Amino acid sequence: MSGKIHQTMGQQSGRRSWAEPWKIKMVEPLRMTQHEDRQKALADAGYNTFLLRSDDVYIDLLTDSGTSAMSDRQWAGMMLGDEAYAGSRNFYRLEEAIQKYYGYRYLVPTHQGRGAEHLISQAAIRKGQFVPGNMYFTTTRLHQELAGGIFVDVIVDEAHDPADLSPFKGNVDLAKLEQLIRDQGAANIAYVSLATTVNMAGGQPVSMANVKALRELCDRHGIKLFLDATRLVENAWFIQEREPGYAGRSIAEIALEFCSYSDGAWSSAKKDSLVNIGGWLAVNDWTLFEELRNLVVVYEGLHTYGGLAGRDMEAMAIGIVESMQDEHVRSRIGQVRYLAELLDDWRIPMVRPVGGHAIFLDARAFYPHLSQDEFPAQTLAAELYLDSGIRSMERGVVSAGRDPKTGGHHYPKLELTRLTIPRRVYTQAHMDVVAESVKAVYEARTSARGLKMVYEPRYLRFFQARFEPLA
Ligand SMILES: *Cc1c(COP(=O)(O)O)cnc(C)c1O
Repeated sequence: MSGKIHQTMGQQSGRRSWAEPWKIKMVEPLRMTQHEDRQKALADAGYNTFLLRSDDVYIDLLTDSGTSAMSDRQWAGMMLGDEAYAGSRNFYRLEEAIQKYYGYRYLVPTHQGRGAEHLISQAAIRKGQFVPGNMYFTTTRLHQELAGGIFVDVIVDEAHDPADLSPFKGNVDLAKLEQLIRDQGAANIAYVSLATTVNMAGGQPVSMANVKALRELCDRHGIKLFLDATRLVENAWFIQEREPGYAGRSIAEIALEFCSYSDGAWSSAKKDSLVNIGGWLAVNDWTLFEELRNLVVVYEGLHTYGGLAGRDMEAMAIGIVESMQDEHVRSRIGQVRYLAELLDDWRIPMVRPVGGHAIFLDARAFYPHLSQDEFPAQTLAAELYLDSGIRSMERGVVSAGRDPKTGGHHYPKLELTRLTIPRRVYTQAHMDVVAESVKAVYEARTSARGLKMVYEPRYLRFFQARFEPLA
């Protein structure tokens, strides 16, 4: 990485660059497209980047989910898959990794994160109970609602302001949570659902002090605390960087301490854990575990494979170990920062501070002339693709969906377009191309016209909705 990065990484004098702790062993050729190809592909996809064919994409920043490059060790691990239906040795390797790095006693593997969210929601929510969380995540909230729960956002107010520079914008506002408990009674709270880091707020971390205080509050009221540990590794890096007393602690130590304040966690291993598929749920309570282990055989598979092949569990076990290495996290977040600094030089509006996995462009600031009903963030994603073949995704009114009670749109304060960086996949030159394309689209911002939605699926509409350009 360039001198720019190493400055943000600590040393100011002289140029001593610092690069990724890996080298490239195998490459995947990409197809380069022309403007006319992209125009046709985008129209065929209903102006929704989720509906583009990957062959029509040059640099794919749709998501960092399942898009990581596995290491040679992980690929070698795939060959050690024990594909027994029951008691696969890879399950025990995975269990060991979860116990060592996350500290929970009992593991239930699932095919991916939402499989785990389904199980915990069914097991731990009674119909009509409230589920407070630090901002919603799409699949998390939906599973909570399908189980009869009522999601309540208790994140700090700063999280809703893309310009606020607070270091821990993922924190729970304890006063909001206390108020909810006072109003509804502790018995009507299913559990607290704490995400690390908060994707929808721009990848913002939760501080150790906040999770500690949250634990105390939950203990006072006899409420359980579960983590969405999908991006815990990145959260740990921000604690190491920003929270007093943690500069000398390793990522693995910080992650383990963080988990120690919770009763369990679910995770999509497709993010931090460097695999293309997989997830898990882990808890400390035997009775709850029994219930989860019983449910998993209905929805995912036997409790020692949970919808995964043995080889997938082996790759996950190795990926967990690699993901907890300080040098790995530094290089992953360093690449996101490199891109952010280029955009900063050109005064591109985006969420600050920049999170660990993505840049979130502020589509409201790009297109102040478009109302939220004209889908500014969806428009920005479409314009970026047209300009250069870069695929991003909408995180605004389309992703927020509809209020199940009124049927109207949720209108989130944040109207964002996310450039998500896959782990260990793209080079610094790719980041340069991305930055220059964002700049070109920003310079052409006054000519953007917005979109109208012409097809809307019932659930998680952002995945499959179709749009047409407004005249
Ligand atoms: C991706 C994600 C999920 C869902 O996981 P899948 O593996 O995509 O099903 C849940 N929570 C968070 C925070 C995520 O980023």
